Amino acid sequence: MATRAEWKCNNCGHIVDTSGPWELYPNTAEKRRIYWDPRSVSKKARKSGIKGYFVKWYCPQCRTVVDSVEIELEEQVDLYEQWNKSEMPLLPKALCPACGAGLKGDLNGSEICPKCNRGKFELSNRWWL
Ligand SMILES: [Zn+2]
Ligand SMILES: [Zn+2]
Repeated sequence: MATRAEWKCNNCGHIVDTSGPWELYPNTAEKRRIYWDPRSVSKKARKSGIKGYFVKWYCPQCRTVVDSVEIELEEQVDLYEQWNKSEMPLLPKALCPACGAGLKGDLNGSEICPKCNRGKFELSNRWWL
């Protein structure tokens, strides 16, 4: 299961999207896929397994959502095995590849909007995928 959240500035309405985990596949057409039911992946991806996970979270220093913090697994994971465990894959502390700051998936009230420099983000929508 993965989550996606939409955060809305309470002053100007600017929207920021955070999501994850995403699956990373080696050598297949679907290199990236939101962590989801393995029955929907291609044969090739199923065979290759997952190489890692990444998140699309917010960097408080760059003040933008940073794509693609990849977690390389030492061994490729079988999709069905991972899915059947039914808990989220463990993500280490995600760091921004540009500045090294800790990324945030939860922006509730903690970050000043980069667009208007006044408002704060509030949760406006959340999906469990
Ligand atoms: Zn704003
Ligand atoms: Zn950064």
